[in-house]
Amino acid sequence: MAPDCIFCKIAAKEVASDIVYESDQVVAFPDINPQAPVHLLVIPKKHIANIGEIGSEDQDLLYQIGEAVKKLAEQYQLEDGYRLVTNCGTAAGQTVNHLHFHLLGGRNLTWPPG
Ligand code: 5GP
Ligand code: ZN
Repeated sequence: MAPDCIFCKIAAKEVASDIVYESDQVVAFPDINPQAPVHLLVIPKKHIANIGEIGSEDQDLLYQIGEAVKKLAEQYQLEDGYRLVTNCGTAAGQTVNHLHFHLLGGRNLTWPPG
């Protein structure tokens, strides 16, 4: 757990949030500032700054993230499609330095993103 990391605190349930999915290594919860009717954040419980910090020991973690996305897409009835995004670094708009995947759906999403 990294000091002063809000997502570490949410994963550890030190900060309340509406956790909608949990496995031994992953949690998901709604984004506080949703950009689509469904906007969830899927995160590892352990602190990893961004996707560039993933290591070979994280193979099961990445599988668990995939599982979470699949189950959440079913739970939120996103059969028409959804988008999974991770911003890495300031130029990409990363504002929380704890790896997170935005799961967006419930409306038609345009491409390319801004
Ligand atoms: P980033 O810009 O790093 O890709 O995404 C960070 C996301 O975290 C933003 O969409 C922002 O709304 C969300 N966020 C920031 N702080 C909190 C928080 O305390 N709780 C929740 N649920 N979402 C947060
Ligand atoms: Zn963290």
